[in-house]
Amino acid sequence: MSKLSGKIAVITGGNSGIGLATAKLFAKEGATVVITGRRLAEINTAVAEIGGNAIGIQGDVSNMADLDKLYAEVKAKFGHIDIVFANAGIAEPSPIEAVTEEHFDKTFGINVKGLLFTVQKALPLLVDGGSVILNSSVVNTVGFEGFGVYAASKAAVRSFARTWTAELKARKIRVNVVSPGPIETPIFDKMGLSVEQIEAFGENISTQVPLGRFGRPDEIAQAVLFLASSDSSYVAGIDLYVDGGMVSV
Ligand code: NAP
Repeated sequence: MSKLSGKIAVITGGNSGIGLATAKLFAKEGATVVITGRRLAEINTAVAEIGGNAIGIQGDVSNMADLDKLYAEVKAKFGHIDIVFANAGIAEPSPIEAVTEEHFDKTFGINVKGLLFTVQKALPLLVDGGSVILNSSVVNTVGFEGFGVYAASKAAVRSFARTWTAELKARKIRVNVVSPGPIETPIFDKMGLSVEQIEAFGENISTQVPLGRFGRPDEIAQAVLFLASSDSSYVAGIDLYVDGGMVSV
C-alpha cells in the first residue's frame, strides 16, 4: 500500500535536486505535492516530470508576501497540509576573511529566516499529527573550510527542530531533520566555482565519506519519506544523517 495515500505535502525548493527527487517519490507514494521555487520555468518542467498530483507555486522563501501567497493558494485548493518538507536552501562558499554582510544576510535570509517562516506560516493549515521535515546538512556538525556561514545556518535549522518538537507536541506534530552528506545535485554548480575547483572539491569530499562516493537525491528522498510517513510515528526531534557514514565514523 502507498505510504502517503491522500496526503497533501508542501516541498519548498521542489524544482531541483533533493526537493524534486522527494516530490517524485511522495507523488509515487500517493501524495499530492505542492512544489515551490523562484524559477518558474524549472517549476513547470518539474511539475511535468512529477506527473499527476503535483502543482507548482512560484515564490521566494525569504519573502513573506510570497509565503503568504503560497499558503493562501494551498488553503484555497486543499484546505489543509499533512507534510511540510522545508528544503529550499543555498550553499555559497566564503572563507571568514571574505564574508560580507550581504553574504551573511542572503544565506541566513533563505536558509534560516526562510525556513522558519515556511514552517510558522504553514501551522494554521497543518493537521494535528502532521509531519515537518527540515533539510539541514552534515555541516551542522563538521567544519569545512570556506563554508562557515552556510554551516551556521544549517546548525540553526537543526536547533529549530528541537524547540519546535517541544512547542508542537500538544498538536502531535513531529518535527525532524534530515542531514545529507554530499549529494549530486545542481547546488555545486551554483557556488561560483570553476569546473576544476568543483572537481577538486568533490574528490576531496569523497575521500571523507566512508562509502567513498557522493549520494544521490533519491537516497535522501527515501529518508524524507520515512520521516514523513507513519513508519516513523515514534520518531521526533532527531537529526537523521544520510551521509555515507561521514559524520558517524
Ligand atoms: P539545488 O538542486 O540547488 O536545489 C535547491 C532548491 O532550493 C531549488 O529548487 C531552488 O529553486 C530552491 N531555492 C533556493 N533558494 C530559494 C528561495 N530563496 N526560495 C525558494 N526556493 C529556493 O540543491 P539541493 O542540493 O537539492 O539542495 C536542497 C537542500 O539540501 C538545501 O537546503 C541544501 O542546503 C541541502 N543540502 C544539500 C546537500 C548537497 O550536497 N547537495 C548537502 C546537504 C544539504 P530556485 O532556484 O528556483 O529558487
